Amino acid sequence: MQKHICHDCGKEITKGAKFMPYKTAAGSFVKCEACHAADPILRNFQEAEVYSRIVGYIRPIKQWNKAKRQEFQDRMTFASTMTACDC
Ligand SMILES: [Zn+2]
Repeated sequence: MQKHICHDCGKEITKGAKFMPYKTAAGSFVKCEACHAADPILRNFQEAEVYSRIVGYIRPIKQWNKAKRQEFQDRMTFASTMTACDC
């Protein structure tokens, strides 16, 4: 029998235990009976593609070179409490 790992809890599904298989374009996944009972929907199974601005263009970060990806990691994010009318 192929080794199955639950997508949600990460536990190995033992032989004879019930599980729910999911087939997606991103691959095949399984959920153990307890996780399926808690949430029957498969979530967070595909990688999100992140876009950001680089040298004036909005491009996927995956396509950036190593130095630019590091530069993206070094960027600091912050939330502004000011609105356009606060000036
Ligand atoms: Zn599970």
